[in-house]
Amino acid sequence: MPISRTDNEVNTRVPRSSPYWYAAAAPAVELPAGQVLVADEVRLPDGRVIACPAAPMVAGAIGAAGHPVVTGPVRLLTEAADSGFDAAVARTPVSAYASGEAPDAQSPGGVAVMVAAPDTWLRPAVGAVVDSWARVMRPRTVLLASPRSFCAGVERAIDVVEALLEQHAPGGRRVFVRKQIVHNTRVIAGLAERGAVFVEELDEIPAGSLVVFSAHGVSPQVRAEAERRNLQVVDATCPLVTKVHAEARRFAERGNSIVLIGHAGHEEVEGTYGEAPDATVVVGGPQDIDGLDPPDPSKITYLTQTTLAVDETRATIAALKKRFPEARGPGSEDICYATTNRQHAVGAITEQADLVLVLGSANSSNSVRLVELARTAGTPAHLIEDPSHIRPDWLRDVATVGLSAGASAPHALVQETLSALGGLGPLTVRERVTTTEDTYFAPPAAVRKNR
Ligand code: SF4
Repeated sequence: MPISRTDNEVNTRVPRSSPYWYAAAAPAVELPAGQVLVADEVRLPDGRVIACPAAPMVAGAIGAAGHPVVTGPVRLLTEAADSGFDAAVARTPVSAYASGEAPDAQSPGGVAVMVAAPDTWLRPAVGAVVDSWARVMRPRTVLLASPRSFCAGVERAIDVVEALLEQHAPGGRRVFVRKQIVHNTRVIAGLAERGAVFVEELDEIPAGSLVVFSAHGVSPQVRAEAERRNLQVVDATCPLVTKVHAEARRFAERGNSIVLIGHAGHEEVEGTYGEAPDATVVVGGPQDIDGLDPPDPSKITYLTQTTLAVDETRATIAALKKRFPEARGPGSEDICYATTNRQHAVGAITEQADLVLVLGSANSSNSVRLVELARTAGTPAHLIEDPSHIRPDWLRDVATVGLSAGASAPHALVQETLSALGGLGPLTVRERVTTTEDTYFAPPAAVRKNR
């Protein structure tokens, strides 16, 4: 559940008690009854401000417990004002201020939570969540995998939609995008907010409209449908996916059977399969090889989805070659450089990390593979959309967190996650660079021309 932020400033009067305070929310609070507010900053009476960067994580856990929650600023009042109900639970460094010690407005750390309603049943429930965060406050190290986050294909696809929005939105022309342009919730929400209209299929689009094909590629059948509907197509398919499509066509024309290693139902696999459906069979792993029945076992070519786990794919290819020794692959690897590099980078941090967090959406194949890779190596790992998905029990006894982001996850999410983890105590960030990337894909001609 995405956590929203309010700019309403909530006033509180804070009686001194330790380790928690229960403060009174001023009647002017503009939050609906039952609403929980997690402070992302606490404004002190003398004007200083204490950041509470852990707020997104705390709010996420409260939201996951079923309580409506937002983040926002809280102002502490000095004068007495008894509004009659308990409302806040606060933790260091705010509590240091209460006990008379000088608060350090620069220091990270601090969890402050307010319940802006006289729901006495709610306070213990929220307090329990805050307690669970308080228990995992400690100094930590983050091992940052590099490379991580956006690849060249994702950058190009997002650039395409942004460029078209710049060109067409002011004139009122809608920019449709078939499927998610890349598999990331934050990216999609950002583009939708700017006016992009995401659809599942082309029949949802009025004839003659402008439509972008996503980075994962489409089958020739979809292209034909676009032509029938007289749509103006801008193709944001990653050039490395286009390469696999070309291989599928080439090998099928030679009369080969194509074994396409990948996840059935994934958009990229559907697109590649559609290039030669009569010659292609999709296999998910070694377990599917026994069931193959090619017309000519001497003419088999295997291709792969671009975002598979390198090691697992190797095992599938080995099983295929064991059964069909003459099976051949394409001239160069189909698993793309970005997938390979991110897997190596996660492999390099996994051994030293007590926990691995990977930023990415659940439908992002390459992100899910990074989590699997860490787990296979024996390290607990979780896929998170953003820091609000982190749970306190994951961090218990964790001194070193490995952090990466899938190829479709924005860099900003990494910064947000570092900031949030820093809210639980001093954070040392060490980047492990396994390789550097300078791949760049030029935008499609239709976009270049108009820029
Ligand atoms: Fe292209 Fe690889 Fe990025 Fe997919 S993950 S968009 S194939 S570079």
